[in-house]
Formats: sequence, C-alpha cells, structure tokens
Amino acid sequence: MTIFTDHACMGICLVLARRAGSRGEVPVGAIVVHDGRIIGRGYNLREADGDPTAHAEIVAIRRAAEVIGHWRLLDATLYVTLEPCAMCAGALVNARIGRLVYGCTDPKAGAVDSMFGIPTDRRLNHRLQVVGGVRAGECADELRRFFRARRRRVRASSARRTRLEQRQVRAR
Ligand SMILES: [Zn+2]
Repeated sequence: MTIFTDHACMGICLVLARRAGSRGEVPVGAIVVHDGRIIGRGYNLREADGDPTAHAEIVAIRRAAEVIGHWRLLDATLYVTLEPCAMCAGALVNARIGRLVYGCTDPKAGAVDSMFGIPTDRRLNHRLQVVGGVRAGECADELRRFFRARRRRVRASSARRTRLEQRQVRAR
C-alpha cells in the first residue's frame, strides 16, 4: 500500500536535494518508501563524507536496509531527483528494489535511460519498474541553480586573485 503519490514523494526528495545544495553538495535527494512508510532518506554527502559512494540513493538504501534488517528491499520504491548513475543503478538491482521513480535525466552519467539501461537489462537477475520524469523541471532547476552559483563563485574568486596579483606586482 502506498499512501504517498509519486508527485508528493518527489517533493520530499526535492527538500532533501536543497539540503544537500545548502551544504555545498550537488543537490540530489532520495527516499525509500515501503508499505506506505518512508524507511530511508538520503542526500548527496560526497564532499562532507569524502566518500565517492555517498550518493543520495546509496545513503537512502543503506538506511532502509538497516530499518528492514535485511539487504533485500523487495516491494520498496526508491525516489530520486536525478536519474541514477551506474553505481546507484547497480545498487538498486543488488538491493532488489521493486520500483524506481526519478526526476530529471542525466545525459552524461544516467544509467537508467540515458547511457545504460541497468534496471531493465534482461541479462541481470532482477529488474525494476521504472518511472522517469516526475517533477523533472523542478529537479533540473535545482541542479542548474547550484551550478550557476558555483560558477559565479569561481569567477569572483579568480577575479579577486587577479586583482591581488596585480597589486603585488605594482608593490614590487
Ligand atoms: Zn549515483
């Protein structure tokens, strides 16, 4: 039984994505829903944890497995704002998650529809139901805003550096 709609669940993921963004992490958020209950929440913690595997999906899946007390998350649905990468898509298959709902596509690294089709690959021993494009515009906006602000910061700091260097040259 699911008491949440896909739209509402993606809204929770968007809140988590914003939390990641406010901490300087690429804004991606994920939740795992089982039996009408959220059993795992996660957002990208790659920078904070210094961990290349700390993607939102992995964080949420780990929490969910702790709650269930088992690695197998059959009948669970994972919601995430961005199309999962190859690592996360592989983790979804390994966790035997029943259904995946994602927001915007990731043309450069997406392993669900864009570059690979891991969750639906018939050569693997488990396949997921996939729904993509839920609140895709809002999910993509979150990422766009983050990268635009980061580019602005980089430009501002390099301009500051240049001014400082010019002053040092003049002082010599
Ligand atoms: Zn990933």
